[in-house]
Amino acid sequence: LPTVLVIGRPNVGKSALFNRLIRRREALVYNTPTDHVTRDIREGIAKLSDLRFKVLDSAGLEAEASSGSVLRRTAEMTGNGLAKSQFALFLIDARDGLQPMDLDVGKWLRKHASGIKTIVLMNKSESLDDGAGSLAAAAGEAHLLGFGDPIAISAETGLGMTELYETLRPLLEEHMLQVLKDEGNQEDSSCKDEESKLPLQLAIVGRPNVGKSTLLNTLLQEDRVLVGPEAGLTRDSVRAQFEYQGRTIYLVDTAGWLERSQRTKHDKGPASLSIMQSRKNLMRAHVVALVLDAEEIAKTRRSMKHAEIVIARQAVEEGRGLVVIVNKMDLLKGKLHEIVVKAVPEEVQTLLPQVTGIPVVFVSALEGRGRTAMMRQVISTYEQWCSRLSTARLNRWLRKVMSRHSWKDQAAQPKIKYFTQVKARPPTFVAFLRGKTELSDTDLRFLTKSLKEDFDLGGIPLRIMQRAVV
Ligand code: GDP
Repeated sequence: LPTVLVIGRPNVGKSALFNRLIRRREALVYNTPTDHVTRDIREGIAKLSDLRFKVLDSAGLEAEASSGSVLRRTAEMTGNGLAKSQFALFLIDARDGLQPMDLDVGKWLRKHASGIKTIVLMNKSESLDDGAGSLAAAAGEAHLLGFGDPIAISAETGLGMTELYETLRPLLEEHMLQVLKDEGNQEDSSCKDEESKLPLQLAIVGRPNVGKSTLLNTLLQEDRVLVGPEAGLTRDSVRAQFEYQGRTIYLVDTAGWLERSQRTKHDKGPASLSIMQSRKNLMRAHVVALVLDAEEIAKTRRSMKHAEIVIARQAVEEGRGLVVIVNKMDLLKGKLHEIVVKAVPEEVQTLLPQVTGIPVVFVSALEGRGRTAMMRQVISTYEQWCSRLSTARLNRWLRKVMSRHSWKDQAAQPKIKYFTQVKARPPTFVAFLRGKTELSDTDLRFLTKSLKEDFDLGGIPLRIMQRAVV
């Protein structure tokens, strides 16, 4: 939540405003200017119509001129509160007019809190008559503080709360967006600048005997993994590393991942361990290459067995980039070759409707063919997985896409105010919605599909989160 600090010299009504904002009447507000009753910073969750923010009630800020350890400590505490806040509500007393101490507070704020957006509130305005011009005069004076237009309020009567709401709302909204973007950037920084330096983590998964080890060897271009005809020979998860076009690739081998389907439930031997290890490796991978056996496909006329569909779905659900590799293409001749090349991508799409455009690469590990095609696809999937779209571009896209689509019921059209990418790896977006409406599954599918088509993000899982506009 954004944090708002209530600040001002003693007795301007900070606690009264704090109490109004948190809607609890637990703190007393004293009227004696000599007694600094609110020495500690109190914190609460403010509710102003549909706005929610954290509010800090600062103790009276005193200028350096004021002596006494208590006051100095107070200033320090306010300083701490300041460090946490993005906004300050600077209270002055509308009846008193600007006091030297107000000017000191203003100076202090400018010196210590230049990055904090400050709004001046003329409290106790209920007693001023605008007809007599006293309010306008007070506002003119408050302008001198240099924090823009002041808002006349009354913490006691609630006067001016609507104006405060209208001023705060766009500021808080903008702040929320920035926070989300910063979070995304932080997480993503490795992808953009360090992208080429950081290893791409690739998992090669598939049923036994589809040719994973052979493929690994082709990729490594040396015999580092044992290859043999027996199922489940490469039981241990091998972690190997190789360079491809200047990029380091980590292979998180997950041999054994699909072997469970061929084992009994009671088998708690090393294979079970390897399954667990494989699962962990899968989560560690950036891109998952699911290897299928072309000969098997031709024989059964089915692209994927149940276990393979499950693993593909899991990879997608875990937000990994998925590439399907059809191995042993050397065994298919003529027409059969053609049929498989045509049928597999279509069938994969039907079986995995969650992700459109999953890439399929046809290789022969034994003959060492398809290494380039496979690696090119793996890297391209990785780059899509890392991709980051600017908010400006996304919102232009959003307007276009919303006008392109027509909703049967106009009222059902989602009211998306902003759309922004908060994270990459995999690309994660936030739709800011007006009011309490939620995106329907159909809307989410429509948005995902459009994003994929319009930004060429096929084959990788996209996530869309929803937030109500604050
Ligand atoms: P894994 O269990 O998935 O690691 O499979 P292996 O790599 O051990 O391969 C199983 C068998 O399939 C071995 O006899 C390999 O020689 C064979 N094999 C692997 N790739 C190919 C290929 O592209 N073409 C053909 N014809 N055989 C292959």
